[in-house]
Amino acid sequence: MTTDSGDTKDYPCISCHTNCCKEYTIFVNAHDIYRLSKGLGIEPEDFLEIHGAKDFDLGIKVKEGLVDLALKQKNTACTFLVESGDFFRCTVNDFKPGVCKSYPFQIEDGKLIQMSDKLCPVEWDTQEFEKMMVSHLEKDENEWKFYHELVLEWNAKHWIKKPLSLFLNFILDRVDISLKSNSNLS
Ligand code: SF4
Ligand code: SF4
Repeated sequence: MTTDSGDTKDYPCISCHTNCCKEYTIFVNAHDIYRLSKGLGIEPEDFLEIHGAKDFDLGIKVKEGLVDLALKQKNTACTFLVESGDFFRCTVNDFKPGVCKSYPFQIEDGKLIQMSDKLCPVEWDTQEFEKMMVSHLEKDENEWKFYHELVLEWNAKHWIKKPLSLFLNFILDRVDISLKSNSNLS
């Protein structure tokens, strides 16, 4: 997606006006929310908005409804996108969601490919990005699995609906525990 590094010579995003950050709703998982909240030192409610759940079985059951969580929008783009001179820039590059890191790639039949409906105005050199993107995509897939399990656990326990703020505390605590236990193992 966007870059904020000075090394923009060969980076396809530099010739683009960040179509992806303007066109998509960025749905986020527990790890995405944790990184943004801790990294920026702000509450999840400050950067999240709720949407009606896309998938009935995986929507979060809270007092506010059956919902999914996405990044807020500002002026019909992601809230973290800012215009800087002739360019648009992601202001949360270090903490941006997994889906932002790996766009526009996906793995198909074990191979890294570009999405057929990508918004990028240029072709990427898939080979050049293979190593980095495969590891992003694998990590992202694991984080979404972790999140879906948390949502299922929450929904099973809290059939009497609790507010979204409690769900957010629940997932942040679980990510914290998981990261600490992984660091103790390493
Ligand atoms: S649409 Fe493609 S080229 Fe444009 S900013 Fe997003 S990832 Fe980069
Ligand atoms: S978090 Fe950054 S990369 Fe992701 S949509 Fe927002 S501005 Fe774009």
